[in-house]
Amino acid sequence: MKSRVIILGPPGAGKGTCASRVSDIAGIPHISTGDLLREAVRERAPLGIRAKGHMDAGELVPDELVVGMLRERLARPDCQKGFILDGFPRTLAQAKALGGIAAVDLAINMVVPADIIVKRLSTRLVCSKCGAVYNTRTLPPKKAGICDKCGGKLYQREDDRPEAVRRRLEEYKKKTKPLIGYYREKRILVNIKTKSIGEPPEANVRRVLAAMGIKG
Ligand code: ADP
Ligand code: ZN
Repeated sequence: MKSRVIILGPPGAGKGTCASRVSDIAGIPHISTGDLLREAVRERAPLGIRAKGHMDAGELVPDELVVGMLRERLARPDCQKGFILDGFPRTLAQAKALGGIAAVDLAINMVVPADIIVKRLSTRLVCSKCGAVYNTRTLPPKKAGICDKCGGKLYQREDDRPEAVRRRLEEYKKKTKPLIGYYREKRILVNIKTKSIGEPPEANVRRVLAAMGIKG
């Protein structure tokens, strides 16, 4: 089984939703650098204080901050049996740093048409307590504005506003997209395509599990 997995893809590709379900089924931790950073911001930790301005603007947080944070996370015992990284690496420098920290068995590239991405981000809601992700159009909570899992209040992320979304897409194209070639050359890249906005997340979850060698 391939259990050291990274997920690449533009913002709004559905990386988080997919990774969280795969994590439940495969029994390996879902590590989202975006979630870890938002937690640091909420707790007003030194890392969060340095990261917040970049995040709200839709820019990447400097490599040394994110790499240090991830190095600590991967050193924890639950990562022994594997991990699914969501939102890391996002630059070539991060990919090279990761190579020095852990071996990667599989790089999933989530391919999504541009119009789906913009629609999804503008209707996305996040739980303020547990971080669960919803979408008012495609993945609504049972009760409007309330998290199904924990009852927390749902909110729109600062960086899901149109100006920051544009910035995040530029950052992706310039800095993260080149990683597709990097992992293709390492022969561990698998492309997974979302065809329509109405497609349930389960379709991609099955594709990822199959690529890992787990029957869905
Ligand atoms: P999305 O994939 O929807 O853009 P994330 O939750 O993964 O959202 O990331 C939100 C923000 O957190 C990014 O725009 C960036 O500012 C910061 N961030 C997350 N992961 C990284 C990373 N690996 N390197 C640099 N910045 C990151
Ligand atoms: Zn919740």
